Amino acid sequence: MSENSLLDHALVRLDEAARHLNIDADVIEKLKYARETTKARLMIRMDDGSRKSFLAWRCRYDDTRGPTKGGIRFHPESTADEVETLAFWMTFKCAVMNLPYGGGKGAVQVDPRALSKTELERLSRAYIQAFARIIGPDRDIPAPDVYTNSMIMGWMADEYGQIVGETVPAVITGKPIALGGSLGRGDATARGGYYLVRNLASELGLGERMRVAVQGFGNAGQYIAQLLAADGHTIVAVSDSSGAVAAKDGLDLDALMAAKAKGKSVRETAGQGGHVALSADELVGVDCDLLVPAALENMIHKGNAETIKARVVLELANGPVTSEADALLEARGVVVLPDILANAGGVTVSYFEWVQNRQGFYWPLEEIHERLRTIMEREGRGIWDVSQSKKISMRTAAYVHALSRLAEAIEAHGTQNFFAS
Ligand code: GLU
Repeated sequence: MSENSLLDHALVRLDEAARHLNIDADVIEKLKYARETTKARLMIRMDDGSRKSFLAWRCRYDDTRGPTKGGIRFHPESTADEVETLAFWMTFKCAVMNLPYGGGKGAVQVDPRALSKTELERLSRAYIQAFARIIGPDRDIPAPDVYTNSMIMGWMADEYGQIVGETVPAVITGKPIALGGSLGRGDATARGGYYLVRNLASELGLGERMRVAVQGFGNAGQYIAQLLAADGHTIVAVSDSSGAVAAKDGLDLDALMAAKAKGKSVRETAGQGGHVALSADELVGVDCDLLVPAALENMIHKGNAETIKARVVLELANGPVTSEADALLEARGVVVLPDILANAGGVTVSYFEWVQNRQGFYWPLEEIHERLRTIMEREGRGIWDVSQSKKISMRTAAYVHALSRLAEAIEAHGTQNFFAS
């Protein structure tokens, strides 16, 4: 592992949490390394008849609390280090929510926007052909992540079924409803964050009418904007990878969604309905109460953290705030609701999907929402109480909360099983 890998940075949080708990050094040793990371080269036929290959990984970071769980991302800058870090975060995220899972993650190093639909399907199927022996409903359960969606999960579930000779819907979550997907999975990440903020609003000093800025306007960003706007809050700025727009009295969400549906940037709505163009980085410093990073890792760093005016940051993306920026924000009293709690709604509804697949009985949407709200509020409040009683940040409290559950499970496995497990 190189000196300053993303995983090294992530592991700092583990050491920090360990200082607040009385746990065995063996536990930390076990959680410092990925259990297995498999690399493959996916070879597919392009529409023009040529062949092209793409690097791909699947990491099972830790399975002490159950089968490993986590999404697959398609991104041109994905690396093995990033996949392992994301899988480490999934380990803690599942423990935060008390889901019976360990953590995993996968990626293909590709720009999916440069592929046709048929090429994308061949790539998705090739991924499952390469990793079919690693995944399984009791072993490792993939799901969507950045630039993957339910259509891709459907192709992957179908490919797995063809390989093993039977339909196994519980091998993958985030599927289309017609193939055993769950109601409510589409907006689950945003909805979980929304329930969390709503429940802790008075403790966080957030009022009835918040001004909100959203960084990233993909699945999580679009849904959180809609959920908060429906409650009477004002969405004052949004960005995507090409730029940002702001409007003091609130953006026209319909115009933004229409632009995205046509494959355009939010920036192209500038000039309509009072929308003013900003650079993507300027969004971070917009005057607002709540800032919602919903894009990629490391978007809030020491170079822009000081410009933040929001009193609360809701991390719907994984790892959007660097550890240096985290310290700057904490010193200024900005509360960060950490990714392993704030965006855990997605994996929680994935868990509901897996349960429904296994019992062959499907729940109505209200039941999904109610169960998600109950878990989010219970774990969110538990972490809030830990942060208050130990006088630590919400991030450290979330790690403490998860680490105590992981430590209990690691110890329960017994020492003989330690290296073999
Ligand atoms: N990719 C999502 C995450 O980072 C969801 C994972 C899942 O549903 O398994 O939490």
